[in-house]
This record gives sequence, structure tokens and C-alpha cells, in this order.
Amino acid sequence: MNRTKEPSFRESVDMMYSRAVAVMDLPPGLEEKIKVCNATYTVRFGVRLRGQIQTFTGYRSVHSEHMEPVKGGIRYAMGVNQDEVEALAALMTYKCALVEAPFGGSKGGLCIDPRQYDEHELELITRRFAYELAKRDLIHPSQNVPAPDMGTGEREMAWIADQYRRMNTTDINAAACVTGKPINAGGIQGRTEATGRGVQYALREFFRHEEDKAKAGLTGTLEGKRVIVQGLGNVGYHAAKFLASEDGAIVTGIIERDGALVNPDGLDVDAVHAWIAKNGGVTGFPDAKHVSEGATVLEEECDILIPAALEGVINLTNADRVKAPLIIEAANGPITSGADDVLREKGVVIIPDMYANAGGVTVSYFEWVKNLSHIRFGRMGRRQEEARHELIVSELQRLSQNLGDAWTMTPDFKAKYLKGADELELVRSGLDDTMRKAYQDMREVWHSRDDVDDLRMASYIVAITKVAASYRAKGL
Ligand code: NAD
Repeated sequence: MNRTKEPSFRESVDMMYSRAVAVMDLPPGLEEKIKVCNATYTVRFGVRLRGQIQTFTGYRSVHSEHMEPVKGGIRYAMGVNQDEVEALAALMTYKCALVEAPFGGSKGGLCIDPRQYDEHELELITRRFAYELAKRDLIHPSQNVPAPDMGTGEREMAWIADQYRRMNTTDINAAACVTGKPINAGGIQGRTEATGRGVQYALREFFRHEEDKAKAGLTGTLEGKRVIVQGLGNVGYHAAKFLASEDGAIVTGIIERDGALVNPDGLDVDAVHAWIAKNGGVTGFPDAKHVSEGATVLEEECDILIPAALEGVINLTNADRVKAPLIIEAANGPITSGADDVLREKGVVIIPDMYANAGGVTVSYFEWVKNLSHIRFGRMGRRQEEARHELIVSELQRLSQNLGDAWTMTPDFKAKYLKGADELELVRSGLDDTMRKAYQDMREVWHSRDDVDDLRMASYIVAITKVAASYRAKGL
């Protein structure tokens, strides 16, 4: 193995793909067809800002249209480039297949540091970018449906949806042209937290399997497990918050752009998040040691490492020194292909990006379905469900009275049982089911095949099998 040269992000994804297809039996030529990126559109456009025209460069890449629409986020970051967008689009193809979201893979990006612009300027830039993409059907409810990614959120998605609607005034399904919108603009409950929530559900499912925990040398539950997270943005913040507040994990390290915070007794995730929002970084946060070379904290002792910022952070320069026995890739591509080899040799268990951060696209799928059906989940059935539960509870109470009040229900049970599921509960249920099912599909391959010794390879095999079946159904 050549450990001196690091491949690009796209090459890294392709190498992981090739490792999996080498043990699969795909028809001749299909291996190459699935791997290649179908098309990447590059746009350069000008926006008049601060008295002069500024030129921006953006991309929308379509990796595979074996199912349509294609789906994938739009990233705002200075490092955006064609290679990165194509790697992320390929991951979207495999991710959607793995979690059975009926989409092909796509991704977009704009070379911009959003922190350098005020809200009005960002709106002008976003609307212009959306215009350029929408007029080529690269934003379209049945062709290409973007979502948030690094540097974008529901605000940008609302601008994109509005821009599309202005250009397609008679399209009754206009709201389905983009997901991750705010609730008042056609969004769905639970989308903002969805990717972080999915990371939590993925870890819960992993911890349900003794055999899998044993491979990482871990025992017990998430309670008391030491967690280090890199990137306290949308994904990292929600994952860390839920793991700490709902599962009893201890967040001992948080790595951000301006260094890392370390506290073996646990960091208050909400307090750190609020500090970053107010001060622009983690520097100065009390009750923790500040490490100015933040990335070195990736190498600290912990039980679970959650890279949730950007790609390539665990690479050939530091993989040898990573001590975590379990890494869950909340970000896309945080481990390079070379580092993946090093970590596997060390026996580290990696829950791969394609699965780990699929919560976002899963709930985006629910939002898209909601937009196309023009009705909120739970609206038709909730009260009917409550009425039926009420019937059972009153009948049980009547029977109990007949027996001289032999048994009574705990008030908590009654209140919980009588409450019908609202949209948020249905979204969480659907997400939990998706994360459990996809994990079980992966581990089935992981444990049943002698030629598969890690979850990443298993995830590719499950995903590629499904994409190949779609191609075959199309007669290819
Ligand atoms: P975000 O912009 O909300 O957050 C990124 C965070 O990482 C920010 O807090 C930023 O300050 C921090 N960061 C940036 N560079 C860093 C560095 N060098 N070191 C440490 N911290 C750094 O982005 P996000 O939406 O949370 O996305 C994070 C990752 O998750 C990306 O890889 C993205 O592709 C992936 N992802 C996001 C979603 C989603 O729904 N938002 C879905 C799937 C995957």
C-alpha cells in the first residue's frame, strides 16, 4: 500500500467503491457505469454588491439518475470544487440506495465564505444561484431536489423555494423543489435536527448488538461513554446534544475552527453552542481546557469519535495516532481511503458516512412526500387514533370498577397512551426505523461474508446491489 500520497476526495470514494465491487458479481460494464458521475454543471455568475459586481463560482453535480429526482445538499464553503462536489454526489447515490430513499445522487456547492456577507447579500447571491440552477432543471420537484449542507440551512432553502416558485408560478408542487425548508415555508418537523438525530439512532442500534460492540472492544450502553466531536454545526451540535442529554454520554472534547475544548468531566454542549453563536468560536469558553491545535484532539483517548465538520480530517498524517475504538462519520468523507486502511488494520470500527449521516436525506424524503401530498403527517389519523385509545382506556376502567377497582392505571400511562402521534413523532419513528433497518442490512453482510471485514465495505455492497437492481430493471 502506498502511504505517501493521499488521493483526492473523489478518488477516495472511488477507491472505497472499487474495494467493494471487487467482491461483487456485477455484469460487465455496470461497475464503471455506476461509478462515474453523469454530469457536473459549473456556473459563474455576477451579483452587484457593495457598489461593484462580484463573480461567484458554483456547481451542481448529478452522479446517478437511476432514480429521479436526484437529491443532495448545497454547500457554501471556500473549498468547494468540482472534485469535492462529485465525491459528495456519488456518496448521495449510495446513501439514498442504502436507506431506501427513492432518489438518485446529486450535490451542489458555491465557493463562498458565508460569514463575509450580511443576510441581504446572501439572499441576493442565493437567489441568483438558484435562478441559474432552476432554469436548467437542476432545481425541480421531479428532477433535482437540493437540501442544506455545510454553510447552508433552512433560511437558504426558503430563498431557493421562493425563487423556484417565482419562476414556476403555476407549479402546484413547487414546494417540493427543495427540502430542509422552515415549517412556515413547507418544511417538516424534525428536519433541522434530523442528521444529528440519525447519528444518535445509528449509535443506539450499534450498541444493541453485542457482537458489534465486541469488535470495538466496547461493552454496555451509551451511558457514560466518552465522546469527542469535531464541528459543532448543525450535525455535530444535535448529535452531541442528544447523546449527552438523552443517552448519558459524556462529551469530553469539542473541536472547532479556532481550537478545541477538553474537559474529562464533560462539556455542556448547549453552553458551548451558545458561546460559539455569541463569540464566533470556542476560544475563551470557561470550564474547559482550550487546545489551540484543535485537530490534535482527534487523537485523544475517548470511546466514540464523531467527526462532524468536513472531509479528509483523518488522513495518513494522523490516522496512526487516533485512539478511539469507534468512529462514526457524521461528516461526509472525514476519513481518507488511506487512513481507512490504517484504522482497519488497527481494529478500529468505523460506522461509515453513507449510513451515519443518512438521517438528513431520510427526513428530506419525508418532507418531499409531505409537499407532494399537500398535507401534514398525522393530520387525518391522529384524533381517530386518540378516540380508539380512549375507547380502550374507558373500557378497562369500567371492567376495573366492576371488579371493585382491582387495578388502576398509572396517570402517566394514560396520558401517554391517549396521545395520538403528531408529525414530529411520526418523523422520528420513520427515521428510527430507517436507521435500524439500514444498519441491520449492513451488519448482515458484515457478519455473513468472509470477504467483508468492515461496515464501510458492507454499506457499499448493500447500496451498489440496490443501484444495480434499478439499472437492471431499466434494461441496462
Ligand atoms: P455546518 O456548517 O452547520 O457545521 C460545520 C461545523 O464545522 C461548523 O461549526 C464549523 O465551524 C465547523 N468547522 C469547519 N471547519 C472546521 C475545522 N477545520 N475544524 C473544526 N471544525 C470546523 O455544517 P453541517 O450541515 O453540520 O455539515 C457538517 C458535515 O455533515 C458535512 O460533511 C456535511 O456534508 C455533512 N452532512 C450534513 C447534513 C445536513 O443535514 N446538514 C446531512 C448529511 C451530511
